[in-house]
Amino acid sequence: MPSASAVSRTRPSFATWLGTTNDITRTFLSAGGVPGLINMGGGLPEPGTFPVPEIARLAGEAVKAHPGQVLGYGPIEGLPELRDALAKRFSTPTTRLSRDNVFVTSGGMQGLDLLGKVLLDEGGLVAGQFPTYLGALDAWRPRQPAFRNMELDDPAFDAHVALAGAQFAYAVPNFSNPTGRMVPLATRKALVAAAHCTGTWLVEDDPYGLLQYDGEPLPRLIDISALGSDGTTYTGPVIYMGTLSKEIAPGLRIGWVIAEPEMIMALTMAKQGSDLCTSGLTQHIALAALEAGLIDRIQPLLLSTYRARRDALCDAMRTELGGWFEWEVPVGGMFVWAIARDPALDTDLLLHHALEAGVCVSPSSVFDAAGRNRRAIRINFTLNEPDRLAEGVRRLAEALVTMQARKP
Ligand code: PMP
Repeated sequence: MPSASAVSRTRPSFATWLGTTNDITRTFLSAGGVPGLINMGGGLPEPGTFPVPEIARLAGEAVKAHPGQVLGYGPIEGLPELRDALAKRFSTPTTRLSRDNVFVTSGGMQGLDLLGKVLLDEGGLVAGQFPTYLGALDAWRPRQPAFRNMELDDPAFDAHVALAGAQFAYAVPNFSNPTGRMVPLATRKALVAAAHCTGTWLVEDDPYGLLQYDGEPLPRLIDISALGSDGTTYTGPVIYMGTLSKEIAPGLRIGWVIAEPEMIMALTMAKQGSDLCTSGLTQHIALAALEAGLIDRIQPLLLSTYRARRDALCDAMRTELGGWFEWEVPVGGMFVWAIARDPALDTDLLLHHALEAGVCVSPSSVFDAAGRNRRAIRINFTLNEPDRLAEGVRRLAEALVTMQARKP
C-alpha cells in the first residue's frame, strides 16, 4: 500500500483538450469587475437597452400563471408553445416550419455545443468560415476537430471543395463574429448548393441578423435551401441557429436551432445528457415577449444606439489608429475587425500592452483554430458610450506606441 505522502504527490489530471484552450472569453466576461478598464473585447450589449420593466412584469405573470411549467422540469426539446411561436416567426411562404423543426437551447452557445456532440467524431473535419467565432472553437475543442478554413471573401473560394468530406460547415453569414462582414448573396447560394450536393450539414449561426444599421438584409441560408422544396416541413441540410441574447438580453439564456426533424431528435438526445431542459421561466418570458412583439418594439433603440456607437468608434479609429490598422465600417453586428498594416505586428503582444493601458480588445489568434493569425484585432462598439469608445481607442494607440518603444 502506498504511504499517504506518496499518494499526495500523484496529482489527478484533466482531459488533454484543456491544455489546448485559452481563457479569453472568461477575461471579457469578468473585465467589468476590473476598475477603470474599458472593455471593448467581448460581444456585450448595452445594459441600458434591456427592457427591464417588461421582463419583470412577464416574469411575475409567468410564475403565477404557469407555476408547474416555470418551476418544474419541462420537455427536453423546449416548451411546445415557444417552439410553435419560433416556427411561425421563421416560416416563409417557401420555408415551411412546424414545431418538429424547432429546438430550444440554453443560449446560442448550447446549440453550438450540442451540434458538436451530435455531428463531430473525435478529430472530425469542420469546414469553418475563417476567421471563426471563438465560442464555436471553444464548444468543439473537446472533440479536437481538424479545421478547413473557408475564406468566404476570397474570389477563388470554391464551396463544393470546401464542404466535401467535412462533418459539417459553419458560417455566420450576417455580420460575422469577428469580422462584422456580410456573406454576399452569390456565396450564400454557393454554400447552400454545395451542402445539398455534397450531403454536408451547413450550420448558419445568426445572432446578429436584426442588428443591421445600413442597407438591405440578404436571404438566410435556410430560406435559400428551402426554395423549390415540396412545400412540406423543412428537411434540408441547413441548421439555422438564433438567440435572444442580442435581440433582448443575454441573461435570459434562450436560443434555438431550426433544422430538419431528425436533427432535432439527435439534439434532444444530446441535451438529455447536458442540462435536461432550458429554464421554464425564461422560456415563458421568451414566449410572452414574442407574442407581445417586444423584439420589434426595442429594435429601434438598439439600432440607433449601436449605429451611433459604431460611428463614434470608427471616427476615433480614423484619428488614432489609421497609421497602424485598416478596416471596413461594418453594416451590422457588434464589431470592427482591424488588420495591422504591418504584417509583423503581433496583436497577442498588443493585448498585453493594451491591458496595461486600461483597455481590452480581442486578438485575432483566438479566432483561428491553429492560433496563428496574430495580425488583427476585434473591437466591440456596443457596450460603451461614444466618449468611452474614444478614450479606449486613445489608450489602444498609447499601447501601440509603448509596444513599439519596447521592441528589442
Ligand atoms: N454565435 C455567435 C456568432 C456569437 O457571437 C454568440 C455570442 N457572442 C453566440 C453564438 C452565442 O450567444 P448566446 O449563447 O449568448 O446566445
